[in-house]
Amino acid sequence: MNLILFGPPGAGKGTQAKILIDQFKIVQISTGDMLRDEVNSGSELGKIAKSIMEQGNLVSDEIIMSMIEKRIKKPDCSNGFILDGFPRTLKQAENLDNILSTLNLKIDKVIEINVDEDLLLKRIIKRASESKDIRDDDNSDILKNRIFVYNKDTLPVLNYYRELNKLSTVDGMKSIEKVSEDILKLLT
Ligand code: AMP
Repeated sequence: MNLILFGPPGAGKGTQAKILIDQFKIVQISTGDMLRDEVNSGSELGKIAKSIMEQGNLVSDEIIMSMIEKRIKKPDCSNGFILDGFPRTLKQAENLDNILSTLNLKIDKVIEINVDEDLLLKRIIKRASESKDIRDDDNSDILKNRIFVYNKDTLPVLNYYRELNKLSTVDGMKSIEKVSEDILKLLT
């Protein structure tokens, strides 16, 4: 089963992905985590991505697509995968479909975790204040930009999947357990 978890920063995509990978024995592919690994390793790609991420902007489609293409071809993806934080632009969504069709694969379902943006902002600021391992992009100005970028570049991706009849929405303002129950109901 190949899934996409969709939602703005702080909607709980990463948390829900971790629950689903255990349940379905599939792998989580987070482009944000992959980019943070590149930044931490000091690679050329990491150097390019660092300042873009620090501003809450999007890394180029070319960089993201080459990372994703390599990742999806790895053997551990053969049982399925959950894409978390990808695709974030229409171009990424279209290119993903092209890559998948050459591999004879497809996206089975896209799950949108729907959240209230004001509450979301509070939730992320709380996450930043509680975390020992504070993400550089979890401060409120950058976060506001990330939400702006989400609304501008990423929301159109929802329509793309809605038109393909692949989109389902869950209420992300419920507890983690309830959200994951609702997602499981859609998948089983
Ligand atoms: P995330 O952990 O998914 O919130 O991603 C953190 C940051 O990495 C984002 O704010 C972007 O700067 C960058 N990023 C992650 N995924 C993508 C993507 N699919 N396209 C462009 N930039 C991305």
